[in-house]
Amino acid sequence: MLLTATETKEGRVTGRKTLPGPILLMGAPGVGKGTQAKELVKLWGIPQISTGDLLRANVAQGTPLGRTAKELMVRGELVPDSLVNEMVAVRLQEPDTVGGYILDGFPRTLGQASWIDGRISQQPGSLPVIAVSIQVDYNQLLRRITGRRICPVCQSIYNIYVNPPKVDGICDLEGAALTQRADDTEEVFKERMRAYSALTAPVVEHYREQGRFAEVDGDRPISEIAAGIVAAVERLRRKG
Ligand code: AMP
Repeated sequence: MLLTATETKEGRVTGRKTLPGPILLMGAPGVGKGTQAKELVKLWGIPQISTGDLLRANVAQGTPLGRTAKELMVRGELVPDSLVNEMVAVRLQEPDTVGGYILDGFPRTLGQASWIDGRISQQPGSLPVIAVSIQVDYNQLLRRITGRRICPVCQSIYNIYVNPPKVDGICDLEGAALTQRADDTEEVFKERMRAYSALTAPVVEHYREQGRFAEVDGDRPISEIAAGIVAAVERLRRKG
């Protein structure tokens, strides 16, 4: 049985049962889509599908897709829709997606949005997409991205400004030297923001026009943002 949750007055989350269906988490690079997706996975018991993570796995394995994607990703540019859509199509064939899933970092273009909308509408009895955009101010995002450090062993995420490890550059849990994603530099951040404004902002408008869109404030504690997303999804699902 799948779990969802409702927001209490204190912004905490309490559980009750319902089907979340397909949820698109949207927002500029660094707003915390990945972190929120993981919170929602815990609450709802549905999988997170992160196209950034899937592409990085392809790059690490040196697949043909990974070899094409690598150059583009290092520059902060988008991988072509056809390649990303195909990768998502394969992932959506897994049986764990039946009760819903959280798309993180996809769709990023109108082409990807029409593709996923079309695919979902062809599946009998499937719930329509709900898009939730997390909002965070530009300068905050820059600090989040350029300050992000990752443990290569346990994947814990730190931030040298707001959530530093106890010993500079070393993971608290594993003692391993922390690494930085190749695209987490100011220069690449600016390119990713440019791609976001030009290509992804229209996707937000696309879902807003359809009345299946909500915005949540991403500049607050993780649990409060998650509660805000859950409340928005429940409100939009009730609306139908
Ligand atoms: P992310 O981890 O979501 O920030 O994605 C990292 C990089 O992967 C992006 O800057 C793009 O180069 C590529 N990427 C991820 N998702 C997509 C997508 N939906 N469409 C095109 N490129 C993507």
